[in-house]
Amino acid sequence: MIPATFDYELAESVDHAIELLGDGRDAKLLAGGHSLLPLMRLRMARPELLVDIGRLSDLSYVREDGDTIAIGALTRYHDLQHDELLRSACPILAEVIGTIGDPQVRHRGTIGGSVAHTDPASDAPTILLALDAELVARGPGGERTLPIAESFAGFLQTALDPQEVLTEIRVPKTSGGAYQKFSRRAQDWATVGVCAVQVNGGVHVGLTNMGATALRASGVEEALASGADPAAAAERAAEGTSPPSDHNGSAEYREHLVKVLTKRALEEAQS
Ligand code: FAD
Repeated sequence: MIPATFDYELAESVDHAIELLGDGRDAKLLAGGHSLLPLMRLRMARPELLVDIGRLSDLSYVREDGDTIAIGALTRYHDLQHDELLRSACPILAEVIGTIGDPQVRHRGTIGGSVAHTDPASDAPTILLALDAELVARGPGGERTLPIAESFAGFLQTALDPQEVLTEIRVPKTSGGAYQKFSRRAQDWATVGVCAVQVNGGVHVGLTNMGATALRASGVEEALASGADPAAAAERAAEGTSPPSDHNGSAEYREHLVKVLTKRALEEAQS
């Protein structure tokens, strides 16, 4: 389908983008366009104005900041996947990013766009949730930081203010970790994905496509903290989830699959 008519403005800076978002029209930021444009073509999104931030190169970086790695929101997947600093200081994030879509998608898609889009089938929000990532957002009232969990408002709904621009994502340095992603065809979205990673001395487990947003498998994390082995802990992986039923699998199938993938991810992360 052809999108509904819209106006287009090219933002010259973050402040310019914030100003454009506040001009009274129903405006949306455009980053890589790989989620927003398909929605517009389906007419599931009909913004009056697109504010293009895709050329704000000062929001594309990976930097060391003490015990954390700071990532500019406009950094494209391809750059993250191959970034030497990220690959050594938080290798699981680079690895998960490398499983997203195909090379074309990874050359256009941005990590900030994925977080703001809040698609439960996306891979980046899951690993960022497991890592307890912190977001930096700037709006008309200034800058604020928030835990990524607080940015998820529901299916394809961000809790970021409509006039806020996500500028940075901060993750802790960590070694190891594993991501098990099951798809019916190569390069497909995850039917289910499970990430296991060690953060602050505990194992954190994130789930893809098991509810309206990325989720933490808190039952699994509790079981591991009480000394359960991976097989026993994985039995609790579907607790508190509400997976969809669609052409890739029923909710019951996903509830079974998530246990299998959790066991594999925990074992891989341990080895
Ligand atoms: P856009 O589409 O430009 O924007 C998405 C939303 O975020 C919009 O609402 C926009 O206004 C908002 N936004 C963007 N940037 C900001 C910001 N800085 N601050 C505030 N709001 C912002 N994803 C996966 O995780 N796994 C996959 O396997 C996968 N496969 C794909 C296959 C195909 C064929 C395609 C087309 C996409 C696929 N994707 C997949 C989605 C891809 O990861 C998207 O690129 C990503 O989800 C959105 O990033 P974007 O930069 O393209 O955002």
